Amino acid sequence: MALDINKIREDFPILKRKVNGNDFVYFDNAATSQKPNKVIDSIVDYYKNYNSNIHRGVHTVSQEATDAYEGARTKIQKHFNVKNLHEIIFTSGTTHSINIVANGFKDLLNKNDEIIISGLEHHSNIVPWQMMAETNGAKIKVIPIDKQGELDMEVYDSILNKNTRLVFVNHVSNALGTINPIKEIIEKAHKVKAAVLIDGAQAASHFKADFQELDVDFYTTSAHKLCGPTGVGILYGKEKWLNKMPPYQGGGEMISDVTFDKTTYADLPHKFEAGTPNVSGAIAFGVALDYLNSLGFDNINLYESSLLKYATKKLKTISGLKIYGDNENKTSVISFNVDGIHAYDIGTLLDKFGIAVRTGQHCAQPIMDHFEIPGTVRVSLAFYNTKKEIDKLYNSLKQAISMLS
Ligand SMILES: *Cc1c(COP(=O)(O)O)cnc(C)c1O
Repeated sequence: MALDINKIREDFPILKRKVNGNDFVYFDNAATSQKPNKVIDSIVDYYKNYNSNIHRGVHTVSQEATDAYEGARTKIQKHFNVKNLHEIIFTSGTTHSINIVANGFKDLLNKNDEIIISGLEHHSNIVPWQMMAETNGAKIKVIPIDKQGELDMEVYDSILNKNTRLVFVNHVSNALGTINPIKEIIEKAHKVKAAVLIDGAQAASHFKADFQELDVDFYTTSAHKLCGPTGVGILYGKEKWLNKMPPYQGGGEMISDVTFDKTTYADLPHKFEAGTPNVSGAIAFGVALDYLNSLGFDNINLYESSLLKYATKKLKTISGLKIYGDNENKTSVISFNVDGIHAYDIGTLLDKFGIAVRTGQHCAQPIMDHFEIPGTVRVSLAFYNTKKEIDKLYNSLKQAISMLS
């Protein structure tokens, strides 16, 4: 079934606004997605009609809020095919989720242990491991990127060994859009008994991951990249790992028994959900998944691929324009530079035409260092974008280049 894009665009109120006197064209979807009315309305509905703290009150409204919050967890369980409901921890987003695992592994590793991270990582997936390694002396090894912007799997095979305890890779690179071979990465890691954490922040808006089929040990994502609100995400972890890890934060809701001598921790998932969570955010996360599933991920994927193909072909006709990570296997992201022109200047001029793109390192400086560039212009497309908007980008870009050269 083909998507009715004009009808879909009606669901997103922000797409009607003007920027600098022009129709707003939003091509910064890899940074955060726009929100449909259903998601926005669900947040307003919570605060207007059943705002209450959860898991504590005996009263009716608290029970309604608890049911909606836990209902969202169930939607997430179904969506990602998770075995046990308590293996899903609500967090403030991917960064928080990764830090929970990095903190949890502090005491589980020692100086003979090794962890492997990929050269395609977001800063949020590099820094926490460096902080962890400083405390326990574990060695960090890196899977390098090849010229095409793909992971060099031969090097992965050679650095994986019986001392490897953890492997951390993103499912999709936010800077280039490269889709990593995570199934193969997980299978190989499991052969040496290493656990694998996949950062799915950039993947979950484009396709559905099946956690049991992948046999992944940890998976993280942020709601705001998939039409949900900011400040909420998940950490999925296999029960055996979540039980091994200590809690990340102390506070209310994460304990089962507290005296001044000793505290025993609550069962999963509450052990990792200290304090009052983002109740409306979690509920809206569930609504966002419902919305995307009502469109169908296969339909979304097909349409985004056609947009990507169209935009890539069109941009390649511009002389001096170079695309980084121009692979077959990627999501709808185009990262590029134009000879002799700074990415920032292009981004600034496109904004004058009402077009939002991202410029710079995209929180992934090692990738930029690999290509020996200071940054790129990143155009990231979503299912509510159109070919007409791409035409506008093309024309505006040509105008910008003639003004800048
Ligand atoms: C956006 C993103 C993150 C960070 O997500 P937050 O929601 O900012 O915590 C991490 N990794 C990748 C690949 C991302 O795209």
